[in-house]
Amino acid sequence: MDQLPVFLDLHGRQVLLVGGGEVAARKAQLLVAAGARLRVVAPELCPALKELCERSGAQVLAVPFAPAHLDAVMLAVAATDDPAVNRAVSAAGRAANVWVNAVDDAAASSCFMPAIVDRSPVIIAIGTGGATPTLARRLRAQLEAWLPQRLGSLALLAGRMRAAVRQALADEHRRRQFWERFFESELAARVLSGTLASEGQDAAFAAALAAEEQSATQRGAVWLIGAGPGDPDLLTLRAQQLLQQCDVVLYDRLVPEAVLERVRRDALRVFVGKRPGEHRTTQARINELLLHYAARGLRVARLKGGDPLVFGRGGEEIAVLARAGVPLIVVPGVTAAFGAAAASGIPLTHRGLAQSVCFVTAMGEAAAALDWRALAAPLQTVVFYMGVAQLPSIVARLRLHGAPEQRPAAVIERATQPGQRLVAGELGNIAARVAAAGISAPALLMVGDVAQFARATPP
Ligand code: SAH
Repeated sequence: MDQLPVFLDLHGRQVLLVGGGEVAARKAQLLVAAGARLRVVAPELCPALKELCERSGAQVLAVPFAPAHLDAVMLAVAATDDPAVNRAVSAAGRAANVWVNAVDDAAASSCFMPAIVDRSPVIIAIGTGGATPTLARRLRAQLEAWLPQRLGSLALLAGRMRAAVRQALADEHRRRQFWERFFESELAARVLSGTLASEGQDAAFAAALAAEEQSATQRGAVWLIGAGPGDPDLLTLRAQQLLQQCDVVLYDRLVPEAVLERVRRDALRVFVGKRPGEHRTTQARINELLLHYAARGLRVARLKGGDPLVFGRGGEEIAVLARAGVPLIVVPGVTAAFGAAAASGIPLTHRGLAQSVCFVTAMGEAAAALDWRALAAPLQTVVFYMGVAQLPSIVARLRLHGAPEQRPAAVIERATQPGQRLVAGELGNIAARVAAAGISAPALLMVGDVAQFARATPP
């Protein structure tokens, strides 16, 4: 981070504003709205600023800027149309340890005015370090449209009730769950839609809290969530929402850091995959952990690469949880085949070339049991998961069962992730090309005429 965002309480504080034009007037408005006492230094004031100074009782000095004007101020805004004056304010500010914002002059500024979305007490500040105010304004417009107008009322209600909730619900997890449910509750919806007057809000909240207090202790739950092929933007909205609410996350090796960053910051992270040179956490141990955390009343996100029900042993976890009566939600994810198809421009079905698509895993002994004649047949796309090391034997088996040497094939490594790679070819040469490129896991093999369309698209 190049800067630290902080929120300043300016009530009753002296702030220096240098400049008398319209730009200065806009800054003055903002500063006065934040409760600052203004000292305005400008030989001349535009009408808007003059009016504002009178209304807010600002101190006006109709003289050129001098460093002494910084006396007893903590923040100065240089908003003249003369860069030399703004720089002088900046230099004097530096010497006097006063934060200076020079309008449109990032180099002369020691602090920046963000674009602001104001739903007080909720305030969102968007900064770009002066790099691109336009982008900041665009983001502001999007947030403005997205955030309910009465968000502030909702935050105020929560603020008034905080102490009562703390007292009623001693357990921290339970308290957090109560708050999370509150923000999704009917009560919150009524506050946001303005259909519950502020006098009624506190009573309605107190009733909800009393009901919560009397209900049995919160039961844990497990959410089996598909993390997608790696690009965090490919998480589903529901995955994103639940990841923001969980108390614990159990994740495996296929889930990259970029996805974990979407998990609530203070959720406990438990890695249950296999690191090179270490033993894999066994499925039995994972089941045990799921039950253990759920029994403690926690909400457990079980995050799996791709889709949890495609080669992810999700079915076994569902069975264990059902037997134990643990509430479960399954959230689908973008499976690696879909990520790889999008990343390589290979259509999984295509008129005249592929009428069906098949997801296969060809690991170890299970490979021998597959119906290779069916997999070698034309007019379909066959996607092999976990196939890199097996590639030569997969190709040999397909060829043995009648697939021609010229059948197109492609391997996609790290689909949708930084460092994504594509190797395209035919059954006759794909193994050699993949070996030469040094492709490693995770990677997928796609076999079928549609693979002739393979072209790398950037992740
Ligand atoms: N449940 C997962 C699959 C788990 S099996 C899903 O639905 O995608 C693990 C295999 O998935 C890997 O060996 C690899 O073949 C494939 N895979 C997962 N992520 C991948 C990615 N980003 N790019 C290519 N292959 C991937």
